[in-house]
Amino acid sequence: MATVTLDSLKKTFGKTDVIHGIDIDIADGEFIVIVGPSGCGKSTLLRMVAGLETVTSGEVRINGARVNDKEPMDRDIAMVFQNYALYPHMSVYENMAYGLKIAKTPRAEIEARVTQAARMLQIEPYLARKPRELSGGQRQRVAMGRAIVRKPAVFLFDEPLSNLDAKLRVQMRLEIRQLQRQLGVTALYVTHDQVEAMTLADRMIVMNGGVADQIGAPLEVYRNPRTAFVAGFIGSPP
Ligand code: ADP
Ligand code: MG
Repeated sequence: MATVTLDSLKKTFGKTDVIHGIDIDIADGEFIVIVGPSGCGKSTLLRMVAGLETVTSGEVRINGARVNDKEPMDRDIAMVFQNYALYPHMSVYENMAYGLKIAKTPRAEIEARVTQAARMLQIEPYLARKPRELSGGQRQRVAMGRAIVRKPAVFLFDEPLSNLDAKLRVQMRLEIRQLQRQLGVTALYVTHDQVEAMTLADRMIVMNGGVADQIGAPLEVYRNPRTAFVAGFIGSPP
């Protein structure tokens, strides 16, 4: 269970304002897609939620509690990246178990969680393999498995499918959505692909140069774009 609140969230690198003040209350179990062109600040926004980037001003709250100063490991969050970030010298099993080992989870519990996640993701036959012996889609599943075993309340995805071919991308995004529903987690999903955003989102945040031009359900945004930028980006009828 987790609600996520972004309250006047801002980020400045040196003298450059990258995020100008984002406000949103995200409900428990909601799937939020952050969409916008390259360089508009999507990753920076997500990294502040994850705790991988400091917050310049404003607040990130999880279940109402301010987490600005909490370490990523203490936020009840897991993040899946575009480049998978798997350890090449470790097996699939070891990759998935690693975070739990660090957290001193008992061995039997680790085994149970890794096996269950592997079954869910249909990668059980590959547990002994190294990442280089897997396809792109299988690697992406391992990266998700590594996130799932930690049983986080919030899942963050930063363009997780952009290294995959178009057909696999469509299949994987449906799987991600199914998994998110099944686990009941709250999700923030970054993409520059408006079709992906329209398909996945309960609500989408359309970003434009560090500003949330519009926040709303996909159809609502499509039918009633608030700015010319949103209309052009989403492809709304004139
Ligand atoms: P997106 O994910 O939407 O492509 P980013 O959040 O990566 O955009 O970047 C937003 C802006 O912030 C870009 O102009 C980028 O150059 C700048 N930026 C990102 N990270 C840093 C950093 N560590 N230092 C300085 N500028 C940065
Ligand atoms: Mg990015």
